[in-house]
Amino acid sequence: KSRLHTDWAGCEVKYFDTLDSTNICAKRMAEEGAPNGTLVIADEQTAGRGRCGRAWETPKGTAIAMTLLMRPNLRPEKASMLTLVMGMAVTRAVNELYSLNCQIKWPNDVVWEGKKICGILVEMSAEMNAIHYLVIGCGINANMTEFPEELKEKAISLRMITGDEVDRAQIIQHSLEWLEKYYQKFEETSDMSGLMEEYNQMLVNRESEVCVLDPCGEYRGRALGINDAGELLVEKEDGTTENVYAGEVSVRGV
Ligand code: ATP
Repeated sequence: KSRLHTDWAGCEVKYFDTLDSTNICAKRMAEEGAPNGTLVIADEQTAGRGRCGRAWETPKGTAIAMTLLMRPNLRPEKASMLTLVMGMAVTRAVNELYSLNCQIKWPNDVVWEGKKICGILVEMSAEMNAIHYLVIGCGINANMTEFPEELKEKAISLRMITGDEVDRAQIIQHSLEWLEKYYQKFEETSDMSGLMEEYNQMLVNRESEVCVLDPCGEYRGRALGINDAGELLVEKEDGTTENVYAGEVSVRGV
């Protein structure tokens, strides 16, 4: 903690050897009154989750599993933008630390040459007009040397990329420092307008063909980038543009 150069992110750090999930733990702490900026870290998750309840692998000693608790003064519909803000922070941090060219796969993954090194999951407790608290969970593949068969095609770790063991504490620190900087920018307007240009430069899907799978069906188009609200603009084959909301939608390269 002493190495953290942040104002609020990680103001309290709660470390655990094993947790079911850092998001679950952070939500429980939030209910018990933990302050804005509390960071939960686990060396291992036994029930880590991605979006739509999908499992997230967090093997002991090699992964980073962390969740930041926030109590932002925001309307609930703005929460999904914090997925994008955290994505920028992790991308910037690992790119700078290891001279990489990781990119963001909208809305919630950081990828290197198409393989995921990080997944982000935002959850919140809110009423109609106000967020009580939200948690930003972040799983980063740090030092795994291999993945289970079913993930081999789509997952990679920083160690597998760089050839060396990476310092997990340093990655956490840099990510939180960037999170604070990007969040400050976000807060000025409560939307992505000040971050849009940099976000779009980090976007792997940009200008590429994507397939959008949403609850109403499936369509193809060309991803143009995000708008102020953090929605992905997708130009469909018929020339019209669709604003895709992050919710539970998957976007695939085709
Ligand atoms: P998709 O990439 O399929 O559109 P998604 O980005 O929404 O889905 P998440 O729900 O965020 O994916 O993450 C869960 C999925 O990520 C799992 O179904 C699994 O395929 C994959 N996964 C699980 N653990 C890891 C890991 N440690 N590294 C990379 N990928 C993982």
